[in-house]
Amino acid sequence: MSSAWLNLAYLTASMLFIVAFKLMARPRTAVQGNLYGAVGMAIAIGAAFFEEYVVRGRAEGIGGTVRIVLAMLIGGGIGGVLAVRAPMTSMPQVVALLNGFGGAASLLVAGAELHGLLARVGTRGYTAPDAYGQMILATAATGVIGAVTFWGSLAAFAKLQEYEQFKKPWNFPNQHAINAGLAVLTFLLCWWLAAVPTAWYVYWLLVIAASALGVLLTMPIGGADMPVVICLLNSYSGIAAAASGFVIDNNVLVIAGSLVGASGIILCQIMCKAMNRSLTNVLFGGFGGTASSGPSADDVYGGKVKSAGPEEIAMLFDTARRVVIVPGYGLAVAQAQHAVRDMANLLQSKGIEVLYAIHPVAGRMPGHMNVLLAEANVPYDLMKEMDDVNPMFPETDVAIVLGANDVVNPVARTDPKSPIAGMPILNVDQARTVVVVKRSLSPGFAGIPNPLFAADNTLMYFADGKKAVLDLVSAIKAA
Ligand code: NDP
Repeated sequence: MSSAWLNLAYLTASMLFIVAFKLMARPRTAVQGNLYGAVGMAIAIGAAFFEEYVVRGRAEGIGGTVRIVLAMLIGGGIGGVLAVRAPMTSMPQVVALLNGFGGAASLLVAGAELHGLLARVGTRGYTAPDAYGQMILATAATGVIGAVTFWGSLAAFAKLQEYEQFKKPWNFPNQHAINAGLAVLTFLLCWWLAAVPTAWYVYWLLVIAASALGVLLTMPIGGADMPVVICLLNSYSGIAAAASGFVIDNNVLVIAGSLVGASGIILCQIMCKAMNRSLTNVLFGGFGGTASSGPSADDVYGGKVKSAGPEEIAMLFDTARRVVIVPGYGLAVAQAQHAVRDMANLLQSKGIEVLYAIHPVAGRMPGHMNVLLAEANVPYDLMKEMDDVNPMFPETDVAIVLGANDVVNPVARTDPKSPIAGMPILNVDQARTVVVVKRSLSPGFAGIPNPLFAADNTLMYFADGKKAVLDLVSAIKAA
């Protein structure tokens, strides 16, 4: 009877996860989706307790229960504080850490289960489960994927945080051979563990080898390829969770992990397509090359950059019929989304058509710009995807580039050696006039100069994004 209730609880949790994923696919229903996911997780945790204590009768005693509850409170507390405290601009780093901790949790669960199993195998009267071999394989897989996820995510965190030593891709001699050697070593250790399951130390050896692999695979990736890596690590964290579900024989963990793993892979494919990369190229092709290989900033900008103030720019709207706003990471830093929406409303009240052009990798996480603009209640039908908006630029009077840089850099089309070579960009340079709002001529995430800033039809408006837009609104009203 109790196992029927347990299965019902797991089924309900799994269904809630699936509905949550569906709802999270649209900004309008994403908050509701999060709520469904959280309720599903609460049911799954409650059911896991019920399974251990009632169905399997493995009560941990009062000390064990206190330890588990304490761990949940500490972990939940840290997670809650992190989520509330982290500014919107640091969300990508938070996501990277969450992926990593997911991988670490899975590998620790698998390790603990292995030790527990070996201890039980040693006791008299205990017979190993039928699926013993399968469980050892799942344990090895969890250890490998969990370790790659944890260390890879820490490396990704350091890159997203733009720590000086981690910003540029790390390339070292024979890196592919070393990585291949480590992969073979990890595989051999898995095989050893499967052949001699009592050799528990092999599990931790393979975790160490996979940890090195995680760092060495992620560090050479840089430039504009990080979005793909983030999605891939997200997917790995799901696969590690699914594998650990096989280890502890928990169906809901297998289902939830598989959902995360599959959605991460789908997102990865979308990102690869958006950046015109293949996954193999990102992981092994040494893309994201060195930022120092192209022309210097002096060569690109020397004497060619024209700057303008709000009054001058406001005059452009007197005759404009279509304005396209191109948001980028700087919009998130400046938190200018509400000010931008107000400016768009003002322009629309003058009969000007206003659209928003969204590049798939603008910002620092997939969907970053959609989330920001949705927060400011920008209507979804005004947010145009790259393929839809690019043909409109030749018919656009003013393109306002707000804190975007790499996603509008024409070098992606012209310099095959550039770290962003081949990445489709928003063709703002084809608009009649381009206004670029940013604080200086400093480069974006890929670390390269942008010839758009020195183009004949470009006016640079040097200011913080929010202040720039507020001043522009005042100037338009006064004009
Ligand atoms: P970029 O990083 O290319 O450029 C952002 C620009 O914003 C900078 O040049 C900066 O210039 C400007 N900026 C910063 N703060 C402000 C501010 N307060 N006011 C005004 N401007 C500001 O951003 P993009 O969105 O164009 O491109 C995203 C990049 O990030 C791509 O290379 C992408 O591959 C990468 N990436 C994307 C991820 C994703 O999933 N979307 C994940 C990881 C990386 P200045 O300092 O002069 O103001």
